[in-house]
Amino acid sequence: MDLKKLAQTLIPDTDLLPLEEYENLYPERDMQKGAEVTRLAPSPTGFIHLGNLYSALADERLAHTTGGIFYLRIEDTDEKRKVEGAVESVIRSLKYFGINFDEGAEIDSPLNKYGPYYQRQRASIYRAFVKDLIEKGLAYPCFCTAEELDVVREEQTANRQITGYWGSYAKCRNLSEEQIYQNIQQGKPFVIRLKSQGNPENKIIFKDAIKGDITVTENDQDVVILKSDGIPTYHFAHAIDDHFMRTTLVIRGEEWLSSLPIHIELFNVLGFKRPKYGHTCSLMKVDNGVKRKLSKRKDPELSLDYYRKAGYYPVAVVKYLMTILNSNFEEWSNKNPQTPYTEFKYSISKMGKSGALFDLDKLNDISKTELSKLSEEEMYNFLNAWVQEFGTEQDKEHFENKQYVCKILALIMGVGGKKRRKDIERAEQGVSLLTYFFDDTFAPEYNFRHDKQTVNTVLSEFAKVYDPTDDNSAWFAKVKAIAPSVGFASEMSEYKANPENFKGNVSDIAEILRIAVTGMANSPDLCTIMGIIGKERTLARLSNAIVK
Ligand code: GLU
Repeated sequence: MDLKKLAQTLIPDTDLLPLEEYENLYPERDMQKGAEVTRLAPSPTGFIHLGNLYSALADERLAHTTGGIFYLRIEDTDEKRKVEGAVESVIRSLKYFGINFDEGAEIDSPLNKYGPYYQRQRASIYRAFVKDLIEKGLAYPCFCTAEELDVVREEQTANRQITGYWGSYAKCRNLSEEQIYQNIQQGKPFVIRLKSQGNPENKIIFKDAIKGDITVTENDQDVVILKSDGIPTYHFAHAIDDHFMRTTLVIRGEEWLSSLPIHIELFNVLGFKRPKYGHTCSLMKVDNGVKRKLSKRKDPELSLDYYRKAGYYPVAVVKYLMTILNSNFEEWSNKNPQTPYTEFKYSISKMGKSGALFDLDKLNDISKTELSKLSEEEMYNFLNAWVQEFGTEQDKEHFENKQYVCKILALIMGVGGKKRRKDIERAEQGVSLLTYFFDDTFAPEYNFRHDKQTVNTVLSEFAKVYDPTDDNSAWFAKVKAIAPSVGFASEMSEYKANPENFKGNVSDIAEILRIAVTGMANSPDLCTIMGIIGKERTLARLSNAIVK
């Protein structure tokens, strides 16, 4: 068969360069030894998830701790799945978590010399190489219809065989020259398939950068490399791109492991040196005692939007993912609580080989700890950014008074105290802790445990003596002084010695005052709260809480 003629008939494009020119166009990168070039290669589907962030973080760390490059490539070969604005959303979402690309799609960088970074814009490169494979007899046109392929699959399934286009099922592999041209003349649509040279009896030991040695069998599937719309499949496109973008290390999810034999063969037939591959383990969660993969359908926490809307502190999410990614990160982080995570020596050898368990409770703990390290002003800025994007109009109004909010935050966070409080877990919940400091969102329930007369006496007696200039001990002395008027013990020691002699003790008085002023039985220091909200408001709340 005249393969040159066949290749020319199937791919008559006039804009293809000779193959060596592509090598010159995208030369080896000039980098120090050991520097890794990594990439995130999402499909622009608009759904950016925790797995992307997890993988991007590994890519970014591996590139930046070795003096390498981390770039963004958009795998848009499937036009149907494309969503407007998806690329910007990937960049924005990752940026929120402090992850930035050095190069790539929509990245303004002088380094952008390996583009285009959208696969659909690279059609001529792929087609040049497919054409070459046809000329070499390593690829061929396939005219099978979807229905014909369905029949094959059914037969294979019935025979308990591996499904796909292989062996004697690969009908178009052996079409005669005459049949091929006849099909073309009849205008039958075709795809181009790899003419696999592999034998599944042969084993290959593959060195995975994360999982270590893996034994796989040789590929014998004649996979589609060019679809009928002239655009390649992921398998083929990624091989060309990772070669010409000079990727040194591909980090991708372990769901790609089963395609590895195909990729090994593709790199071989293309004559390219393979980059290193590291397959990350899937994020799992325990659901009703059973470990399973995080799922888009069942788990809202898989979506990155979830973390932004709930106001997670980005550094906390990243640090949590780092604990999953590198087994020695947590220990390092505990020893160096103030050091930015970027100082940690990230190592691929410390990446998990199997099942990464995602635990929201642990993330929440880390989040509380990280947030407790902020100053009240930093906390204000963090919460305010969330309020401006996701808060109510009331929240926005409240945050206009920065000084007032900062005072509240200093109290809630225990700034200046012996130990910081860890009450704020994330912005949404943090903002909700402020509501009782503002009259328009103060909605008390007044669940007093004491009788009407006791409550009213406590409230009115305290209102008579409250003085905002009192310090903590003067304030407390006044609280104690009310005790005898309602039959309570003013000293805890007295109460403990003879509880039967009293209706209650000084802590019950504080509780009544607290419920009146905050609407809750638990709160940070009440004297400080009264000081923050001011005399007028304190007295109004004491009076409004009087039981009718
Ligand atoms: N486009 C592929 C995906 O979104 C990328 C896989 C890879 O990183 O090679 O899953």
